[in-house]
Amino acid sequence: MLVGLNLVIFGPPGSGKGTQASLIAERREIPHISTGDILRDVVLSESSLGEEVRVVMDSGKLVSDKIVNDIVRKRLVQSDAARGFILDGFPRTVLQASALDAILVGQSVLTIVELVVPDDELVARISRRRVCGACGVIVGGRRDDEAHLTCSICGGDLRKRSDDCDDIVRRRLHVYHRDTIPVLEFYKPRQNFMSVDGSRPIDDVAFAVNDAIAGAAGVRS
Ligand code: ADP
Ligand code: ZN
Repeated sequence: MLVGLNLVIFGPPGSGKGTQASLIAERREIPHISTGDILRDVVLSESSLGEEVRVVMDSGKLVSDKIVNDIVRKRLVQSDAARGFILDGFPRTVLQASALDAILVGQSVLTIVELVVPDDELVARISRRRVCGACGVIVGGRRDDEAHLTCSICGGDLRKRSDDCDDIVRRRLHVYHRDTIPVLEFYKPRQNFMSVDGSRPIDDVAFAVNDAIAGAAGVRS
């Protein structure tokens, strides 16, 4: 039997967090909560908040802790998250990590899985990745995806995400090292923190992630 899993999937931009989070969400029937996806929806809403968020995201910087913490706090009280959830792209600062601990007081212990991928591999993957303008699926990272111009799921046009150009990617990696690596130090001493080599093929990483989750105290796969 699968029991509730409160999971943070952690790693730099391009490490495959979104891909792995979707796979786990499907397998365990718990929501995949990506703050990047939620923020992109906020941008599409064409509100004044959306405009503020768009400028920050397109520059490769982080959206304020206040905005992101509010989003996550509201999302985690929805009923589908009661049996567990996977957070992808959050927390990205130590303040966000502390806020998450406060939100989760009295709930099942948090499991954290880090995907480790070298920086030069990240830059190469992100420069190859494309998003479907119609259904939002992410294609790419692998060399054999390069030839595809239309989405294999819905036939929509594939395009680059607006923050995936080279100089913005370098800025995002810089921000990751400066603001998000400290979150790793915050979580490392915990018993339910695990690292997985994310530079291997998707299925191999998925296998290792499942193993890591199964090994975490109090959780069975
Ligand atoms: P990636 O992991 O490839 O960088 P995401 O979709 O997770 O992509 O994030 C895209 C952008 O959304 C970030 O560069 C940042 O501007 C914003 N963002 C996402 N999550 C957070 C967060 N937890 N805190 C602050 N900003 C965030
Ligand atoms: Zn599509």
